[in-house]
Amino acid sequence: MSDCIFCKIAEGSIPSTKVFENENVLGFVDLHPQAKIHLLFIHKNHTVDINDMAANPVHIGEVFQGIAEYTKSAGLDKTGFRVVTNLGREAGQSVFHTHFHVVGGEHLGHFGR
Ligand code: AMP
Ligand code: ZN
Repeated sequence: MSDCIFCKIAEGSIPSTKVFENENVLGFVDLHPQAKIHLLFIHKNHTVDINDMAANPVHIGEVFQGIAEYTKSAGLDKTGFRVVTNLGREAGQSVFHTHFHVVGGEHLGHFGR
């Protein structure tokens, strides 16, 4: 989508620090990290949120394959990490291109509010 910031990152017209890329999936560093490691994984096909993406479950699988490949190669699977996705206003979604936060690199507090 032409006015979508994450589509522009996927196209390369907005810069990002990429950590993983294949034909379908991109992983890059979050601009405002909430932990020592804070990455975002997206599918290059634009959808608004995970419910929209669920219309093409293969896309969800492709993103999670990318997360698995990256976290294994980086050794993050050994120490542990968290995957979070926000949908909508009350969850605090601020970018409306489906993305999965991959957070780790330190001990994370118990998930909650
Ligand atoms: P959410 O609030 O779940 O929609 O997450 C959006 C995330 O995108 C936030 O953690 C932002 O810090 C991050 N973000 C926004 N713009 C950029 C950008 N240009 N490059 C990297 N991360 C970004
Ligand atoms: Zn987009």
